[in-house]
Amino acid sequence: MAGKTIGVLALQGAFVEHEAALRKCGALVRQVRKPEEIQEVDGLIIPGGESTTIGKLMNKYGLDKVIVDRAAQGMPIWGTCAGMILLAKEIVDSDQLRLGLMDISVKRNGFGRQVESFEADLEVESIGPTRGVFIRAPYGEKAGDGVHIMARFKEKIVMAQQYNLLCTAFHPELTQDLCIHRYFLTMV
Ligand code: GLN
Repeated sequence: MAGKTIGVLALQGAFVEHEAALRKCGALVRQVRKPEEIQEVDGLIIPGGESTTIGKLMNKYGLDKVIVDRAAQGMPIWGTCAGMILLAKEIVDSDQLRLGLMDISVKRNGFGRQVESFEADLEVESIGPTRGVFIRAPYGEKAGDGVHIMARFKEKIVMAQQYNLLCTAFHPELTQDLCIHRYFLTMV
């Protein structure tokens, strides 16, 4: 990752926290708001926030098409929470705008409204233990053959990778543990 720049989509949501975590890992970081800025980064994080809002703004500013093109060329993209929803091909009971890149079906607010926010210990394949912060989190219900499931919580998919695409239902940027950010940087 030396000399590589990681973009953090900065339309809405927890992008500042991702930026800080990436900087702690020694990465070069830039906020991305315009299509031409996508061309200047080597990897992209789509943060948590409100997936309907981020989806509409991505579409309005013409970012969605550029992101899809770069993903097809192999650029690594990591979506956390709302970002995971936006990466998914299928969103249960929703026709909201999405990138539709990962062969995964997600359920928004999957862990229920009564537990809007919780933390749990997770065991992530090839990475190890980490603390998962879940905030109105989605989960993956099912995934295609090309998708590698890296972590589950209560049987539900909470982290997965499909080639250059990574998704987490939880928020590593809200903890002090940089292991998932470091893993993403190895993909770049
Ligand atoms: N529930 C939100 C959504 O559907 C995601 C929450 C989050 O990103 N923390 O967009």
